Amino acid sequence: MAEELHRSMHDIEQAQQKFKGLLESAPDAIVIMDEKGNITLVNKQCENIFGYQKDELIGANMELLLPERFRSTQQEQPKSIHDIPGVRSTDIGLEVLGRRKNGEEFPIEMSISPLETEEGLLVTAAIRDISEKKRMEKEIREANVTLEKKVQKRTAELEIKNKELEQFAYVASHDLQEPLRTTSSFVELLRKQYHGRLDEHADRYIDYVIQASDRMKTLIKDLLDYSRIGREKQFEPVNCNLALAEVLADLTKVIKENQAEIVAGPLPVVNAFATELKLLFQNLISNSIKFQQPGIAPHIEITTAKQTGYWHFQIRDNGIGIDKQYQQRIFIIFQRLHNRSVYEGSGIGLAHCKKIVELHGGKIWVESEVGKGSTFHFTIAD
Ligand code: ADP
Repeated sequence: MAEELHRSMHDIEQAQQKFKGLLESAPDAIVIMDEKGNITLVNKQCENIFGYQKDELIGANMELLLPERFRSTQQEQPKSIHDIPGVRSTDIGLEVLGRRKNGEEFPIEMSISPLETEEGLLVTAAIRDISEKKRMEKEIREANVTLEKKVQKRTAELEIKNKELEQFAYVASHDLQEPLRTTSSFVELLRKQYHGRLDEHADRYIDYVIQASDRMKTLIKDLLDYSRIGREKQFEPVNCNLALAEVLADLTKVIKENQAEIVAGPLPVVNAFATELKLLFQNLISNSIKFQQPGIAPHIEITTAKQTGYWHFQIRDNGIGIDKQYQQRIFIIFQRLHNRSVYEGSGIGLAHCKKIVELHGGKIWVESEVGKGSTFHFTIAD
């Protein structure tokens, strides 16, 4: 009997030792208190964080660890830890200000677990000093604000530069038209009046000048159109089904000549610049018809999918495809992959498309494999 008693005393002692060991090795300050916050046990970490000695804390109220303004008055003792003003629940536990013995206040995170015992409710609070975490959060927040400001400034600068460039392109192409008109009308006159009257070389040279000035006219017109996109226009609801129908009607001749088949799923109504959106469809569809594999009739599919915040359009063709290395370059103004004698064009169509899509807060890109067709993707903000 005595031996049994001795063994169980020994067990209890061992359990207490284990408990103490656990308590002391915890990374957090641990405070064990009764329901009213009267402290019965603390660990070393608690002394370290708050700067009190153990015996100063045991028997004192938990409120001693909080700033004075959050402590309750004598009359209204807190009924539970949650009644202490300034204690705020978070996902992990409670976030609140703590107060060290020297009066310094600092942010703490506190998780509270109640335990029913024979002597009543025991509450364990695990308290973590989160000054460092808060300081880092603040630093990250400030860094983000600075970064955001820098990005805004940079974007504004780029927008100004872009506007200036557009203005330049507009003025230059506009002003170039006049001398070009003069040049072409005079060579035209030369041709009319002197063709066959000079020698063979002279006739050929005159023809070259005429061809070159015609080409220059097209380039300048393209450039002018490009810089005009989105000028003084208004956003309006555009039914893409109707816009597409109009584009297809305009392209009837090319569609027939090439025996192209165009299939479109139901398209949305989007807030857009109506004329520009039609031009976008028109450029992409006519490219899909133009860049066909010899002997294969063009088959084009147009689909859309709603995503959060935008519409995703896809125009898929069965044409010649585009090598991966050129898939970015084709969206740059006047960039082409083919000689004009193979596929005619000036290389501005996709630059137009890019500008139009960006005007609508979207992006444009292509997925393609040579010989297997291309899918042009673009998004329009909802
Ligand atoms: P253009 O049609 O006047 O050449 P674009 O800017 O519309 O100018 O197109 C640039 C280049 O991108 C084209 O020259 C062509 O090489 C390539 N491209 C455009 N669309 C397609 C397509 N659907 N399939 C294959 N290549 C294409």
